[in-house]
Amino acid sequence: MDRLKYVPLRLLTLALLFFQIVIAAPASSQEIVLTFDDGPSPRVLEKLLPLLQQHGVPATFFIIGSVAVKHKDLLQTESAQGCEIENHTYGHDNLKKLLDAKGPEAVKASIGKTAGIIKDATGETPRFLRPPFWVITDVVEKLIIAQGYSALKLGRPDINTLDYEDAAKHRPVETLIKRVQHVIELRERRKIFTHVLTFHELPLTVEALKTLIPYFREKGYRFVLLREVMNKSLAASGK
Ligand SMILES: [Zn+2]
Repeated sequence: MDRLKYVPLRLLTLALLFFQIVIAAPASSQEIVLTFDDGPSPRVLEKLLPLLQQHGVPATFFIIGSVAVKHKDLLQTESAQGCEIENHTYGHDNLKKLLDAKGPEAVKASIGKTAGIIKDATGETPRFLRPPFWVITDVVEKLIIAQGYSALKLGRPDINTLDYEDAAKHRPVETLIKRVQHVIELRERRKIFTHVLTFHELPLTVEALKTLIPYFREKGYRFVLLREVMNKSLAASGK
């Protein structure tokens, strides 16, 4: 057979190889951070913590101080399991409203009391604060930073899973699973491969994670703590 006839075939092979190596290759850093707000909730954690442990997945918990003060043992268990515990204020406070109503000292107290509970239970000092309801103003942000925190604002890495809405409306677990998968696939098309997912300590969320954790693993994602992603983004921004 004429050798020339092989040329298009070779080109096709090369093109396929190029596609495999350059285009279809997984991103070098595919990271998922599972974060859970509003805990600690004993009835959810008794299922969630074993699930995370079974899959070897670390998580980041944004806890409410006034709830955590009654469940320091749960904070200890989370910490012993390699999870990190961060600040979500003392009374799930809208920090802007608190500032307007009671001044900066009240905001500092809400943050400081919660940090004290975490430190007391785990020996660790929290370093991130997610303001409840995502309400944050420049003044509130400065107060949070002055207390030694990175103030979290909704941005590129974040996904609000809306699990609380699904739970409130008694939607089937598939709704939450499909929404998260859909958002991930949209973001991947935009070349975003770092996702910080905001969940809540809800029974529905535990059910969804039984499907979502294997889903992420199959896609090649690594589960990491928030601090790992934040350290990288702080280093990248030169701060
Ligand atoms: Zn919250």
